[in-house]
Amino acid sequence: MSRRETIGFIGLGSMGSAMAPRLSAAGHRVLGFDRADGAGASLIEAGGRMAGSVEEIGRECGIVFLSLPTPQIMREVVLGAAGLVHGGPRMIVDLSTSGPRASAEVAEQLERAGIAFVDAPVSGGRAGALAGRLSLMAACKEIDWREVEPLLLTFGRVFHVGEAAGQGQMMKLVNNMLSAAALVVTSEGVALGVKAGLDPKAMIEVLNASSGANSATADKFPRAVLPRTFDFGFATGLALKDVRMCLEEAQANDVPMLVGGVVRDMLTITQSRHGPQSDFTRLAQIVEQWAGTEIA
Ligand code: NAD
Repeated sequence: MSRRETIGFIGLGSMGSAMAPRLSAAGHRVLGFDRADGAGASLIEAGGRMAGSVEEIGRECGIVFLSLPTPQIMREVVLGAAGLVHGGPRMIVDLSTSGPRASAEVAEQLERAGIAFVDAPVSGGRAGALAGRLSLMAACKEIDWREVEPLLLTFGRVFHVGEAAGQGQMMKLVNNMLSAAALVVTSEGVALGVKAGLDPKAMIEVLNASSGANSATADKFPRAVLPRTFDFGFATGLALKDVRMCLEEAQANDVPMLVGGVVRDMLTITQSRHGPQSDFTRLAQIVEQWAGTEIA
């Protein structure tokens, strides 16, 4: 891409508001859009600008990044009546977790319109996004990869997992299922230890030096559960969306996913108790309640 070209960024929520400013800080001209008022503050502070609509992004930008909550919204922003497909971008890069089906469908429709699609979901949470330490699992044609890789490197480590749109998403769904399963089983294990008299902080320290270490012991517990802040930055409703999509793919591929079913149920219970906007680390409080103890 040329340095003069403006990069679009749609969806400046928990992740997008941490990622878009990194493109600005790297010297690119960035034009953001979010339907929520005030969502562009971090981008503006980093030297970017905010647009008033998706159409404006479509008119002004050659490459457009998306960080949107659901596959339905991603599809609407790209293919809807006022979607990007009707504007002028030559490449759309979806950083959201949209699932393999929506990804493949959108890629196919965009190809007919002569627009390249890069399926590039991310992992590492808001903290990883702020620090440029995400991992990105991308699927796109080799020719598009050569162009987009340097931009994706702004956000962290990049992996080109395949050429067909949806393969990055498949990789991401497996990752998120494992991550959510780790949160469930860590909540159970730590609740047991605490009820039996162990100190939760000491438990996390031991686990992180032992074979029970996982992404919940390494990150979610020290940062959001032990301090009782429950502010990791990932909504329960979004975690549940990912786990449900993973189970759909397991069913479609005839792969048993028994543990995955329990993980989904735990997130469903967390959502009904704390709401879809709650932080998904609230799941630990469900286990605490059932166990009659507090991880504190
Ligand atoms: P979020 O809900 O915080 O942010 C989404 C943003 O999109 C919001 O600011 C919202 O106003 C905006 N938006 C919604 N509809 C829109 C529309 N039609 N036009 C313009 N803007 C619109 O979600 P998030 O946590 O930032 O996650 C974004 C995506 O990244 C999701 O697909 C999520 O699954 C994925 N993800 C999140 C995390 C995390 O830890 N938060 C980690 C990895 C991947």
